[in-house]
Amino acid sequence: MEIIVCIKQVPDTNEVRIDPEKGTLIRKGVPSIINPDDKNALEEALRIKDKLEDVNVTVLSMGPSQAKNALREALAMGADKAILLSDRAFAGSDTWATSTILAGAIKKIKNYDIIFCGRQAIDGDTAQVGPQIAEHLEIPQITYVENLDIEKQRVKANRAVEDGYYIINSEMPVLLTAIKELNKPRYESISGIYESANKEIEIWGVDDIVVDTTQIGLKGSPTRVKKTETAKPKKEGELLKGSTEEAVNELIVKLKQRQVI
Ligand SMILES: Cc1cc2nc3c(=O)[nH]c(=O)nc-3n(C[C@H](O)[C@H](O)[C@H](O)COP(=O)(O)OP(=O)(O)OC[C@H]3O[C@@H](n4cnc5c(N)ncnc54)[C@H](O)[C@@H]3O)c2cc1C
Repeated sequence: MEIIVCIKQVPDTNEVRIDPEKGTLIRKGVPSIINPDDKNALEEALRIKDKLEDVNVTVLSMGPSQAKNALREALAMGADKAILLSDRAFAGSDTWATSTILAGAIKKIKNYDIIFCGRQAIDGDTAQVGPQIAEHLEIPQITYVENLDIEKQRVKANRAVEDGYYIINSEMPVLLTAIKELNKPRYESISGIYESANKEIEIWGVDDIVVDTTQIGLKGSPTRVKKTETAKPKKEGELLKGSTEEAVNELIVKLKQRQVI
């Protein structure tokens, strides 16, 4: 079985600061991590590899050369192969162009049974890329996967919804998007770190993938960002003093005064 996991390198949001004048992210010196949902996606792929025979896991990332670090970490966790999609032609891509590029690489890989993505990247936050890849490849998709079973050539997934879950069966190939409830990602092992250091990370450019070049990069991106704004900090909260009972009574009075209850 061939599994592809799309992983994005993102800034560690706990560390992100905003330039107060320019209103842009200060990326300098900010550590980067594998997008958290993508780690769940990778973990699930590795669990399938642990359980079944003849499973290969390829990790795929589009980004600058620095994204190699994320791919190296994925190899150390247990992935078999890593491909970095990096080319000037990819710069300025919005979600449409990004998914076109990732799908173009997957078309080049050709053999795949499951494609995993995270539900959402913590920086861009659109949750569009996974579903768009499935549309480009014209394969079924199951998003928000919180539990997964493989039965012969089919997948059975629990798709989380607000008040429960749907059980969805699909044939393969299929694209799945992972949420944090799916599993607890493993740490890199010492031997994994050692072995991954010697593994090659393939670098693919625009000529290595199957893509219409008018659909990628800034020119191929239908989205334009007009303005970004930093949310204003909320007013400081009020701490109610006294015993729990006194604090609760005071809270009820305040909520009634504001006609909340
Ligand atoms: C006009 C415009 C220009 C932009 N220019 C740039 C630019 O020059 N450089 C830049 O870095 N960003 C740029 N961006 C942001 C970029 O489009 C998004 O970061 C990217 O499309 C992913 O979207 P997202 O973060 O919302 O991912 P989501 O859709 O939330 O991600 C869902 C899942 O898709 C997969 N995924 C997403 N992105 C990647 C990736 N790159 N590699 C592998 N898997 C991935 C992951 O599995 C992820 O969990 C631009 C955006 C716009 C609108």
